[in-house]
Amino acid sequence: MAYRPEPDRDSREWWERIARHEFAVQRCDICGTTRFPARAFCPACRSEAWHWQDVEPEGRVESWIVNHQAFVPGRRQPYVVVMVRLAAVPGCLVYGNWHGERPPEPGERVRASFDRIDETLTLVNWTPAGSLDPHPHQRTSFR
Ligand SMILES: [Zn+2]
Repeated sequence: MAYRPEPDRDSREWWERIARHEFAVQRCDICGTTRFPARAFCPACRSEAWHWQDVEPEGRVESWIVNHQAFVPGRRQPYVVVMVRLAAVPGCLVYGNWHGERPPEPGERVRASFDRIDETLTLVNWTPAGSLDPHPHQRTSFR
């Protein structure tokens, strides 16, 4: 496996929702600010009142890291973890495994898919959105 998250007290419910294929962020009940990752307080107004809001699992690639360490035999390497700025919630950045045939590009549109690993963990993968590849000449094997 690539990027294995460690759910904590605040993020556990988010991961439970991901396991049910529900993609949501927290929204403050008082000022409406959305936030991710999950935390107990609103960063804008300090309120503890919030609820989950479902959003489209779409966004644009903000940046990414390439991990050259491989712990699982047979897994293609290197694997890439992307940081995606959600379209519905511009202030929110979500990490996930890159799931494309080529490296990501800055600002490209991506969509999340859910990758069930085991009973307790489902990961978020990000794949290029849209059927047209804007840079077909760069469609090469990614190693
Ligand atoms: Zn607030």
